Amino acid sequence: MYAYLTLDVDPDFTGKSRAWEKAKEGIHRCLGLFKEFSLQESITWFVNNAELEFTSRRSNHLSKLCDGEIALHLHLDRPEWSGNYYCLPEREEDIYAAIKKEKEKLESWTTENLGREVICFRSGDLLTSEKLFAALNRLGIKIDSSMPSQFDWSLKEIGRRILCQMPPSVKLAVSRILVNKHAYPTLPLGVGPFMIGRVLEMPIHIYAGGDNLKKGIKWLKKRTAEQVKRGVRELVIYWHPHEILGKEKIFSDYIEYLFERGFNFRKMGDYLGNSHTRKSK
Ligand SMILES: [Zn+2]
Repeated sequence: MYAYLTLDVDPDFTGKSRAWEKAKEGIHRCLGLFKEFSLQESITWFVNNAELEFTSRRSNHLSKLCDGEIALHLHLDRPEWSGNYYCLPEREEDIYAAIKKEKEKLESWTTENLGREVICFRSGDLLTSEKLFAALNRLGIKIDSSMPSQFDWSLKEIGRRILCQMPPSVKLAVSRILVNKHAYPTLPLGVGPFMIGRVLEMPIHIYAGGDNLKKGIKWLKKRTAEQVKRGVRELVIYWHPHEILGKEKIFSDYIEYLFERGFNFRKMGDYLGNSHTRKSK
C-alpha cells in the first residue's frame, strides 16, 4: 500500500494580510516534519504559483520543496478567471488558456532548475467538470488529483451533491449564506485511480485540514481505516501547509499511524514510473 502526502501551497486567506507569512511558516514546519520521518523525497507539492508568485518572487522558497515533486495548483474560481466564486469558467477555451499559462510559467522554472516537467494538477476548491478534463487532456497533464472520494451519505455530502447540480447563480447565492459552500463533485468512498481519457485521476481520500482537523486524530485514523477496508491501496492525503500550525502533534501521530498500518510513501509521479530525481549540478 502506498500513501501520497500532497500539499496545496495556497495563501492562507483566514489570516488576510498575513496570507503569505502563514503559508511560509507552514511550509517551514511541514518540511521539518517530513525531515523527521525522512519523507522529503516522497511529498507532492501542489503549488499555487498564480497567487503566490513563486517563480517570479519566491523562487528561494520553491527551491526548498524540490526534493519532492512540484505540481500545479490553480484556483480557476477566482478573479481573473471566473466572475463566480466556486464555479469554473464557462468556456473550455478559457479553462485551457488559464491552465496553459500557469503550467508554462511553473514548468519553465522546473525545467531550467530541475530538468523536470510538471505532470500533476489539482483544481482549486476541488472544482471539476468535463470541460476541465478535456482541457487537461489537451495540455498533456498526466495525473489529476482534484476529485475527492468522500461521499458517505451524510447530510453534508447529500447537500453538496444537490448544490453541485444547481446553476452558478444558485451556487453563488448559497455560498453567500452558508459557511460550507464548496459545491464540488465528489466520488464515493473507496475509489482508486482511474483514467479520464489520457489523464490518470488519483482521487483524494483524506483531507487532513479544515473541519476534519478539528475532529482530530481519531477521525483521521477511522476514515483511513474505512478507505482501506473499501479497497483503497493508493491512499491520497492532502492538507495546506498553514494548517499544520499549532497542530503538529496530530500530523506526526497520523504519519506514525500510516507507517504502523504498513504504508510506504511516494510521490504521485512515482505511480506512473515518473520518478524524478534532482538534476545533479
Ligand atoms: Zn487551493
